[in-house]
Amino acid sequence: MAKAKQRELHRKRQAYLETLTANYKQRLGERLAGSRKIFQNRVVAVDLHSHSIYSDGQSTVAENAERAKLVGLDLIFATDHYTIRQKRSAAPLPNATWGEESDTAGFHLGLLQPKRVHKSKPGEQLVDGLARGLRHADFVWLAHPVGFNGPTRELQERILQQSDPVDELAMEVLNGFNVIDRAYYRTGLWGAQMFDRLLCAGKKVTPLGASDCHSMVEIGNSWTGVLNATRSPASVIKSLRAGQCFATEAPLLDWSVNGKVMGSTLRPRKGTTLRFHLRAADSAGLAWVRIISQGKIIKEIWAKGEPLVEATLSRKARGSAAYFRVECAAVDDRRAFATPIYIA
Ligand SMILES: [Zn+2]
Ligand SMILES: [Zn+2]
Repeated sequence: MAKAKQRELHRKRQAYLETLTANYKQRLGERLAGSRKIFQNRVVAVDLHSHSIYSDGQSTVAENAERAKLVGLDLIFATDHYTIRQKRSAAPLPNATWGEESDTAGFHLGLLQPKRVHKSKPGEQLVDGLARGLRHADFVWLAHPVGFNGPTRELQERILQQSDPVDELAMEVLNGFNVIDRAYYRTGLWGAQMFDRLLCAGKKVTPLGASDCHSMVEIGNSWTGVLNATRSPASVIKSLRAGQCFATEAPLLDWSVNGKVMGSTLRPRKGTTLRFHLRAADSAGLAWVRIISQGKIIKEIWAKGEPLVEATLSRKARGSAAYFRVECAAVDDRRAFATPIYIA
């Protein structure tokens, strides 16, 4: 085949792939717009973790921000590796701001709007790394704590070993690196297990979702829904710090116990009634909603494809420390994980 003809074919294939993914992402955006109408509670949809040409990403901050808009997200943080130079590219964009991806104790560490570049420190323990990160930024989290290119057993054991002196942390349960469609089956299944293992060990854990995109095609595969916030980065960071968020591949989630929002700690006397109120929505339809406590499913609601599930249920406080959390799946199995509510 002549070289010119081959180049033309290649260009056409590339254009076709671009169109396919853009169409697919547009449908995700329409689905989210539909879910928002059903859900009614205000959700700020955020991609906390994205890469651009300022590090090893293949797209510009502006291209990522444009794609985020297409999938229905409100805000994207440009978290390039070990740099905050992308801040200047994000500044003129209404839906983008800066962050950074650094590392500590062998884990990748995400930082939102760090005041200066956070550098790793050899030999540092996780507890010190998180504290040092918080001196540079108001919100830090562990990116892909179980691995990003498939989970690794070594990282899973390391996080458990190093988490001993850590009381609370935020981490990506859903990381979308290298996938167009879903994050759950790549690392999210193991992320969710780690979430429960850390919670069972008595930690407070805020679950996050992010695309970790290195090209535009990953954007929208998973993200974080932020509650009780406006679209401003400062307001989003405040809600994230309070744990008022959920990690998701599409469904929207909110819940409370005795009127206390997710992330709260309750100190009820033994025998006190705990009243759970939960809401989940997905315009594509929901399959189930579960309440999980101490690593066990204590209640499953079969949603039968309904786009909205709203339920109230009661349980007596047992007088011992526990966590409760809510997760759900849509009819196409896209998942969402809400921040727990803790019983002290
Ligand atoms: Zn990373
Ligand atoms: Zn990354």
